[in-house]
Amino acid sequence: MIDKLGRNITYLRISLTDKCNLRCRYCMPEEGVCKRSHQEMMNEDEIVRAVEVAASLGIHKVRLTGGEPLVKKNIVSICRRVAAVEGIREVCLTTNGLLLPELAVSLKEAGVKRLNLSLDTLDSEKYAYITRIGKLEQFQNGLEAALEAGFEKIKINAVLIGGFNDDEIEKLANLTMQHPVDMRFIELMPIQNHDEFGQSAYVPHSKVLERLPDAVPVAHDGGVAKLYRLPGAKGNIGLISPISAHFCGACNRIRLTADGALKPCLHAPDEFSIKGLDKDGMKEVFEKAIWNKPAWHGDLDAVNRSRAGRNMNEIGG
Ligand code: SAM
Repeated sequence: MIDKLGRNITYLRISLTDKCNLRCRYCMPEEGVCKRSHQEMMNEDEIVRAVEVAASLGIHKVRLTGGEPLVKKNIVSICRRVAAVEGIREVCLTTNGLLLPELAVSLKEAGVKRLNLSLDTLDSEKYAYITRIGKLEQFQNGLEAALEAGFEKIKINAVLIGGFNDDEIEKLANLTMQHPVDMRFIELMPIQNHDEFGQSAYVPHSKVLERLPDAVPVAHDGGVAKLYRLPGAKGNIGLISPISAHFCGACNRIRLTADGALKPCLHAPDEFSIKGLDKDGMKEVFEKAIWNKPAWHGDLDAVNRSRAGRNMNEIGG
């Protein structure tokens, strides 16, 4: 699947549900999501069909995300079936981790190789504030369960927010000294329509490096993060800079929303629905979506908002 700019699209990110058991302030509204009927959303068979079509076109990596993918009742079955699709080499999952104590072992057995866990702060009051309803202890239990289950790789993602957690860069980076995990800092993206963050919340990644003078650059692992490592650490520090140093020219991704819209670019309004289609129909739409992948996502900051047209929980971060 080569797009018209010659980018090879090999990575499909699927939002399994808009629903989440947290309400992170930069991601989704406090009241949650509006109720949609089951018929409007992709069912398990349609998701697997979409992956089969994508794999036949050259996709070999799938990330399951949301909303919160672990609130889906059939999550283990979806993971197992997606991992079994011919041509899919890697199934990864992005989760807030809260349900991992119950699910980590089954997910690993179902074929999930890598986990990305989201954690913006190590302070329990700030965790409750940013997630609106979460408890830091729940995350910590989830991380423990993930470490015990023995996934190939665990990465922890923090959205860096000026005035909120930029005073915790060292503390968060220190997790790589304690555990075999990568700690990645993601620049805040202005995607939600009604967020509360002003320009000072949008912190460029140069700030992370200023706070970690001992971190040394290490080789790229094929992902979008620039990698560094603290002396003696068990994992890397990653910087993902969609704003200050966008990676659109090397973007190899396409996204599928929980209601069946292919989004060739996270921040563009363009959507191509595959809901209810058979394999031939889906294939045609995948090809059209890839061909129409925009060159880049445009300027993004507190003033120039994302043109995604949906909140992050509806697209899949
Ligand atoms: N519920 C899961 C989780 O918490 O990881 C998966 C979905 S969540 C939308 C995926 C990732 O998107 C999380 O790491 C979250 O922090 C990130 N995210 C959401 N809104 C964002 C924003 N406005 N800017 C940067 N990252 C964002």
